[in-house]
Amino acid sequence: MAVLVVGSVALDTVTTPFGKREEALGGAATYFSCAASYFDSPRVVAVVGDDFPQQHIQTMRDRGVDLEGLEVQTGKTFRWEGKYGYDLNQRDTLSTNLNVFENFHPKLPDGYKNSEYVFLANIHPSLQLEVLDQVESPGFVACDTMNLWIETERDTLCELIKRVDAIVLNDSEARELTGEANLARAARVIQDMGCLKVVIKKGEHGCLFFSPHNHFSAPAYPLDSVLDPTGAGDAFAGGFMGYIAKTGKLDDRSVRRAIVYGSVLASFTVEQFSTDGIVGLAHEEIEARYKEFREITLFE
Ligand code: AMP
Repeated sequence: MAVLVVGSVALDTVTTPFGKREEALGGAATYFSCAASYFDSPRVVAVVGDDFPQQHIQTMRDRGVDLEGLEVQTGKTFRWEGKYGYDLNQRDTLSTNLNVFENFHPKLPDGYKNSEYVFLANIHPSLQLEVLDQVESPGFVACDTMNLWIETERDTLCELIKRVDAIVLNDSEARELTGEANLARAARVIQDMGCLKVVIKKGEHGCLFFSPHNHFSAPAYPLDSVLDPTGAGDAFAGGFMGYIAKTGKLDDRSVRRAIVYGSVLASFTVEQFSTDGIVGLAHEEIEARYKEFREITLFE
C-alpha cells in the first residue's frame, strides 16, 4: 500500500569539509521519497517554485516517485543552506528561505486520500495536522519534527504527537521535547504523550527504538567515507516507512527490520552529496548492506 509524505522539496547549498554543492536537489520529502521508492511508489505532497529545475522532477520520476501532489507555484523554491565541520553530527544552518513554502496549505489529490501509510516530515506542525486531517483512514502515521517547532509550537506539536503512531526524531530533539536528559526516559515521556513507537536517531551512532514492551538499538553502518550527512534522517524515515508499507507488518520484529533498512538507506545517502547516493542503487546493493548490518550486530 502506498506511503504518502508531506515535507519540503528544496534547493540546498551545503558545505562540508569535503566539498560544496550549490542549489542541489534536497528537502525532507525528496530524501524520504527517493529512499522509500526502493520499496513502494511514494506519494509526495509539497510545493516548489517555477524556478525548480525540470531535471530534478525527472530524477524523482525516474525513481518511481508519484508527484501528482507536488504543486508548482509562481515564485521561488524553498532554499536551505548548511555547513558542517569535521564533526559531521554538528551543523550550522546558514539560511532558510521558505519562499513558496511560506503560504503553503497542502491539498491532497483525491487519489492520495486513501493512503494507508503517512509520513509527516519536518514542517510546521499545523501543516502536518492539515495533511493528516485529509487522509481518510490512515493505518500507520509517523512524524518528524525539529527544535524550532518544539520551542515555538509546542501545543500544536503535542496535539500532533497524540495522533501519530510513531515519531522519528534525533536525540537532542527528544531531550528538548521531554526535558529528560536520559533517552530511555525521554522515550517513555513521548509514549505517555500518546505516541507508542519512538525512534531516536543518534547520527553516526545509530538509533534507538522504543515500543511499550520492547526496545532495540541499531548501529550506524561503519562507513569509510562520509561526504554530506544532509538528509540522512529523512532517508532513514523513507527506508523505514517504505519497508513497513511494503510488508504491511507492524509487529516489533518487522519494525526492527524496517529500522535496519532505514539505516541502510541513510548510509548510502551520506556517502554522496545531495541525493546522489540514493537515486541509482540496485536492490542487490541494499540487500548486501542489510546482510552486513546483521553480521556486524550478531552475537550469541
Ligand atoms: P536532515 O539532514 O534530515 O535534517 O534534512 C535536511 C533537509 O531538510 C534539507 O534537504 C533541507 O532542505 C530540509 N530542511 C532544512 N530546514 C528545513 C525546514 N525548516 N523545513 C523544512 N525542511 C527543511
